[in-house]
Amino acid sequence: KGQKCPDSADNLRAQYARITAEEAARFQSFDAFPLSRRTIDGLRDAGFTKPTDIQRQTIYLSITGNDVVGAAKTGSGKTLALLIPVLECLWKNKWSRDDGLGALIITPTRELAVQIFQVLNQIGAHHDFSAGVLIGGTDVAFEKKRLATVNIVIATPGRLLQHMDENETFSCDLCQILVVDEADRILDMGFTRQINSIIENLPRERQTLLFSATQTRNVKDLARICTNDPLFVSVHEHAQ
Ligand code: ADP
Ligand code: MG
Repeated sequence: KGQKCPDSADNLRAQYARITAEEAARFQSFDAFPLSRRTIDGLRDAGFTKPTDIQRQTIYLSITGNDVVGAAKTGSGKTLALLIPVLECLWKNKWSRDDGLGALIITPTRELAVQIFQVLNQIGAHHDFSAGVLIGGTDVAFEKKRLATVNIVIATPGRLLQHMDENETFSCDLCQILVVDEADRILDMGFTRQINSIIENLPRERQTLLFSATQTRNVKDLARICTNDPLFVSVHEHAQ
C-alpha cells in the first residue's frame, strides 16, 4: 500500500497520529528529538536521558506545532512532556527576555506550580528565559511589579484570573503557548468558569497542550473550546 498524499486536515491528523503510534519507538533518547542544543544540555545536566512513554508519544507532535491532548497516569512524566515543548516554542519564536509573557502553564495547586517551576529551572538552565509562579498566598502587589517582565508564567487558575482582571501591566496578548496541566483535576475542583475566562483573554493564534491523568468527558469538552484540531494521545499501562 503506497503513501497517500493527505488531502484534508483530517487525513493529515490521522497521519500524524499514525506516525506517533508506529514510530514513537525511535525516540529512545532525548537526543533523537529535534530539540535545541540548550534544551538537550538542560536535560542532560538534570540527568534525564530516556523519555518515558508519554514523552515519547507527545513531544514530537508538540514540538512540530500541534495542539495535543495527552493522558497518562500520575508519575508517568507529564511535566517534561509539557515543559520541553514550552521551551522549544519560545526558542523557535526567538523569544527574548524583553518580549514579556510567551508561555502560560496552568495547574490546579500551588504545590504543583512550584514543582513545575523547579523542573523548568533545571531543564531550562541553558536558555535565557525568565519564569515565575503566580499562586495564592503570596503578595499580589509584589507580583504585580515583577510580572510584566516574566516570559513563562506557571499559575493556579484563580490567581491568574485575578491578575488578568486587576493588573493593568499584565498582558497575555503575545502568549504563544498555553498548557493546562492536570486538566481533569482543574475541572473537578470547579475551576471551569475561571478557565473559560482565562482562555477568552488569550490570543487565538497560539498552541495549546492539555494534560491529564484520564481523558474524561469534561477534558474532551475543554479540549473542544481551547484547542485547535488537537491530537489525542492516551498512554495506558500494559500488563507485564
Ligand atoms: P506526572 O506529572 O505524570 O505525574 P512527573 O512529571 O511529576 O509525572 O514525573 C514523575 C517522576 O518521574 C519525577 O520524579 C520525574 O523526575 C521522573 N521522570 C520524568 N521523566 C523522566 C525521564 N524521562 N527519565 C527519568 N525520570 C523521569
Ligand atoms: Mg504532573
